[in-house]
Amino acid sequence: MTNEPETLDPGDWDAHRAVAHRMVDDAVDYIRDIRSRPVWRDMPPTVRVRLREGVPRDGQKLDEIYRQIETDLMPYPMGNIHPRFWMWYMGASNFTGALGDFLAAILGSNLGGGDHAAAEIDKQVVGWLKEMVGYPTSASGTLVSGGSMANLIGLTVARNAMSGIDLRELGLAALTAPMRFYGSDQIHSCHQVAVETMGLGNRALRRVRSDAACRMDLSALRDAIAEDRAAGIQPACVIATAGTVNTGAIDDLDSIADLCAAEGLWMHVDGCIGALLAIAPKGRALVHGLDRADSIALDPHKWLHAPFEVGCALVRDAGAHLGTFSTTPEYLESASRGISSGTWLHDFGLQTSRGFRALKVWMALKEHGLAKFGRLIDQDLFHARYLSELITNTSGLTLCFPTAINIVCFRYDPGGLSEEALMQLNTEIMVQMQEAGIAAVSDTTVQGRHCLRAAINNHRTIPSDLDLVVAEVVRRGRALNAEAIAD
Ligand SMILES: *Cc1c(COP(=O)(O)O)cnc(C)c1O
Repeated sequence: MTNEPETLDPGDWDAHRAVAHRMVDDAVDYIRDIRSRPVWRDMPPTVRVRLREGVPRDGQKLDEIYRQIETDLMPYPMGNIHPRFWMWYMGASNFTGALGDFLAAILGSNLGGGDHAAAEIDKQVVGWLKEMVGYPTSASGTLVSGGSMANLIGLTVARNAMSGIDLRELGLAALTAPMRFYGSDQIHSCHQVAVETMGLGNRALRRVRSDAACRMDLSALRDAIAEDRAAGIQPACVIATAGTVNTGAIDDLDSIADLCAAEGLWMHVDGCIGALLAIAPKGRALVHGLDRADSIALDPHKWLHAPFEVGCALVRDAGAHLGTFSTTPEYLESASRGISSGTWLHDFGLQTSRGFRALKVWMALKEHGLAKFGRLIDQDLFHARYLSELITNTSGLTLCFPTAINIVCFRYDPGGLSEEALMQLNTEIMVQMQEAGIAAVSDTTVQGRHCLRAAINNHRTIPSDLDLVVAEVVRRGRALNAEAIAD
């Protein structure tokens, strides 16, 4: 041991700079050449073993660490930045956003509170998102980790505002009647976790039947509300989905807003998929009425392609938002001047320390402009229609649900197979395409029908990518079905 003071800063700045430059150069090539790489590949056991080693006792050179990144990390991505990744529902990231994350980390800022430029940029981005969905400037909002957290924030504000009591002080035990939230049977699973976490329990979330287009059936919603009132349950909030995760269906936002106004209910919109349609010239009409919601959850890491993670909760009544989360512990008092004179962003959610997730969104919006992001959303809608038509016109393929936005549900169906055999066949096609690194689609079961699902939320996709996946599904489907018959 010496008594020399230690630091995490490099001993040799120039050597560090050289490795850092190489990383940036390689990263540019990686993105530029993404199309030529497989979407995904299975990680060899030798790599996996290295990634399960224990904590390193002693350090090694950055150069050596980067070499391991090159061999053990970069070849085995999830795949969502590839032009033929349409699995689940994700954005495809962007290089400028990645630089934003890098620079945010360079500053190392904590946005829990304080008066500094990063906090201003965070507020500016929230302001931009309010503008995008048509909210007034008086509305409130906060950047969070993603849509699940954004929904939890919105629903928690709804719970407190609708409880009729000082819920923060008294807790759920003081409620005079159990509260009920409503969503369609197509609602995202994060809402169940939210009502459970909020202490209301899963039963507090009533799933309302969806219609043939997978939209919430409004007469069923009306009946459910009336039935609950008659049973002494307090209807509190309708969760409308703008873009369901299964099929992309958009609930009738205007009618739900009318109903909420008439019934005195909070309207929350889960717009993780579809809220940003509001910025698309063609897509905009699909989310008419969105701006009437009391709260909205949206996801810049989906249709703004921000690198993960960034979601956003918006609340129309800023007082209700702040009233749900703000606290002033003695160790976080603000001063009239200096670093602690700023707004405390931790007052808008559950986190105390917060990262600078705004910068990646801010930089990409400045670089490309809102109009281009709107056009990219319309481009995804076009691609989904293109794929749907291709499917409809290809023998052996069936479109399972009408394509509402950018999610296409389909399956290979040669005829004469049971539902179970179809599910097995299509699952095998899906996994084979992933293992071959050709394309990534997911699968789901909607209203009892298993289908493959392509969520085309990808600014790198071009029509020939969609031609390719259709050809591959049919080719593999035929081969597998022939094998099955031969058996
Ligand atoms: C993605 C999604 C969520 C969850 O958002 P995360 O960002 O993954 O936490 C919630 N609702 C819908 C409709 C979604 O598509």
